[in-house]
Amino acid sequence: MDIDGEKIVVDGGVWRTPNRPIILYIEGDGIGPEVTRAAMRVVDSAVERAYGSSRKISWKKVLAGWEAEKEKGTRFPKETEEAIMQYKVVLKGPLETPVGEGWRSLNVHIRMILDLYANIRPVKYMRGLQSPLRNPEKVDLIIFRENTDDIYRGIEWKHDSQEAETLRTFLRENLGVELEDDTGIGIKPMGKHKTQRITRLALRYALNNGRRSVTIMHKGNIMKYTEGAFREWAYEVAKNEFADRIITEETLQRNPVPIGKLLVNDRIADNMFQQIITRPESYDVILAPNLNGDYISDAAGALIGDIGVLGGANIGDLGGMFEAVHGTAPKYAGKNLANPTGMIRGAQLMLEFMGWNEASRLIDRAIDRSIADKKVTQDLARYMGVEYLGTKEYSDVLTQYIASS
Ligand code: NAP
Repeated sequence: MDIDGEKIVVDGGVWRTPNRPIILYIEGDGIGPEVTRAAMRVVDSAVERAYGSSRKISWKKVLAGWEAEKEKGTRFPKETEEAIMQYKVVLKGPLETPVGEGWRSLNVHIRMILDLYANIRPVKYMRGLQSPLRNPEKVDLIIFRENTDDIYRGIEWKHDSQEAETLRTFLRENLGVELEDDTGIGIKPMGKHKTQRITRLALRYALNNGRRSVTIMHKGNIMKYTEGAFREWAYEVAKNEFADRIITEETLQRNPVPIGKLLVNDRIADNMFQQIITRPESYDVILAPNLNGDYISDAAGALIGDIGVLGGANIGDLGGMFEAVHGTAPKYAGKNLANPTGMIRGAQLMLEFMGWNEASRLIDRAIDRSIADKKVTQDLARYMGVEYLGTKEYSDVLTQYIASS
């Protein structure tokens, strides 16, 4: 079926969004269909409220996961891959990945098709969540985690393998490095190109979305030529390519940040962990290599008390995939009990990359209001001691709030 609309063009990380963009969606497994449909309804109502009839998303469904298996006999049909290569922007419900055996992660597969090198996770407190912090409302972070480099590339050898022995010998004979015979070896590659492309993305996002600062998180005091280099290469982009729009902490000294400038600073990883707990208000966008980014994303999520309400994105220079952080929650599947907020947050990031920030802000306000009015799904209602709304009824409330705002 032909669909009325145009492709979003993402060129070198810069998005050009037509007024009627075609966006793919994958409903996903388990609670996926319910939360994905709820998110799409909320997005549609926010876009309509913000732009009237001048802008509208043309959603195009593609199959993956169990639904695809049933209809096409494969979890990831060729048509889905082709559509992703063509349209490049996807809202994706959670997809099941079995532990230990079975098929490989479809999420990872989609990331590879589009070279989605940045994993982005906003973490913002919502009233009513059971946070372990005394002042959780100060948490409003967004983490940019490099997704393709670092120790996670999986270049490693078991301690008793021939390869490890070959490497130990090479290191001893050529570089004077002596390792014990029972040492496994992993390689930590970190490249300038990969560091600088995600730095550009984080800085551009921070500037386009009125964020206050970008903090480079690294362990460069110990790992000088990988994490230390990450810090240097990131500063290089900030100073050379964004000179008129940023200010570094070093230049600033102790003066306040001039109006209209984005602060760029850096923190050593261990310090970063304690500071997001003790002084979350001092941090805003955090730019991290793969391993640090993995850890800090979950630690930040824990600060607000519930990862079920977090969304995320995987972004590359050609496009992006937007989703909830949570999985398929099979026990709630088809019961109208899932909270769609994580999916909605993922969709908000999509709107922000599209440059449709007004619509995203309308959704923010509607979610804040629904929580203030204690109109929430069961996962939050159980902490608040109130009657809960179903997935569908909760999204009805959000669309009503958006329409009347
Ligand atoms: P999960 O699906 O996130 O669910 C774990 C628990 O979190 C649920 O039992 C429920 O807890 C709560 N929960 C998560 N999302 C919720 C929502 N929207 N509304 C209400 N409660 C929610 O994690 P999992 O059980 O580890 O993973 C299940 C499957 O999902 C696996 O196959 C995994 O591979 C996949 N997965 C996919 C993605 C993805 O596609 N991006 C991400 C993560 C996991 P209570 O029991 O406390 O109510």
